[in-house]
Amino acid sequence: MLLHFIFPAGTQNMEEKWNYRVRSCNWLLCELADIAASPEQLRLINVLWETQICIRSGDDMNRVDEKVAIVTGGGSGIGESSSELLAEGGASVVVTDINEEAAEHTADIIKQRGGRAISMYQDVTDEGRWQEVVEAATSKFGKLNVLVNNAGIGGVGMDDIEQSSFEDWRKIMSTNLDAVYLGCKKAVEVMKGEGGSIINISSVMGIVASVGVGPAYNASKGGVRLLSKQVAVHCGTLGYKIRVNSIHPGFIWTPMMRSAVGVADEITTEEDLRQMLLLRHPIGRLGVAEDIAKGVRFLASEDSSFMTGSELVIDGGYTAV
Ligand code: NAP
Repeated sequence: MLLHFIFPAGTQNMEEKWNYRVRSCNWLLCELADIAASPEQLRLINVLWETQICIRSGDDMNRVDEKVAIVTGGGSGIGESSSELLAEGGASVVVTDINEEAAEHTADIIKQRGGRAISMYQDVTDEGRWQEVVEAATSKFGKLNVLVNNAGIGGVGMDDIEQSSFEDWRKIMSTNLDAVYLGCKKAVEVMKGEGGSIINISSVMGIVASVGVGPAYNASKGGVRLLSKQVAVHCGTLGYKIRVNSIHPGFIWTPMMRSAVGVADEITTEEDLRQMLLLRHPIGRLGVAEDIAKGVRFLASEDSSFMTGSELVIDGGYTAV
């Protein structure tokens, strides 16, 4: 169960918000203590109690309060979950996607929960659109602290080096790598005054190769890994206070993953696919989008302030074997 706090008008900074959360929990606990009888009420008391402990220990979902974030591909899977978790942590989020309706849906969910978000159409391969997205973030929310370069494609180009076409190669490289370059370039330009965090979603396929994945996907994700380090070093060297890190998810059960049914002759159903992938994750389950979103939130927050040029591998042990 998640608790969403609606702050009174004029609640300005992080400390005031923290205090308000603690006071609200306190008040509700006192009210409920007298009347609690049903299992639901007792469960709520438990949640409130845990929330208070969490707030007091300063461990409330890695704070991203006051930050402004852009999340690309935010209409689905990892991008959607990342947008939601950042907003729950107090960030204002610009959700963009090539699927405009999906981005709008994510922004609506955030707003319904009391968070701040806007949505925008964005094809990340379109250089000109980056300028418009960044301008929208700064004009609506006043600044830009976080960019999550998440949008990506699999699907086409999964053929091996002998079967694949140059056209497929170019399509994948354009979305998965060229666009991350464009996003980093624009974000560095905007963030170099105040600093910020750029989070690039790579993959375990940016660390190891795999049969059935195809050269373009592996190469694009490997490119994201080293591009992130390059930009991190550049920013650090020039004293920009911009941290740049990559995240390397294992197989995560999202629409992109589910579309891989049929990737091999024996994989004819989602259940076949799930069972095949399970065997490759020593932890005994497939990842869910929120597993990665938590890493995004961590890298967006000051809790990761000593991390730049790093690879955050969240893969259930995939690369350990
Ligand atoms: P997803 O559910 O398919 O979501 C990706 C979103 O990005 C979709 O809404 C998609 O729109 C959008 N998109 C595609 N091309 C775009 C473009 N040119 N500009 C803007 N948006 C675009 O995928 P996901 O599984 O969450 O993957 C997110 C990222 O994680 C990707 O970079 C992926 O490579 C990476 N990743 C995923 C896994 C996994 O197992 N799922 C593992 C490792 C890494 P459409 O649906 O309309 O195409």
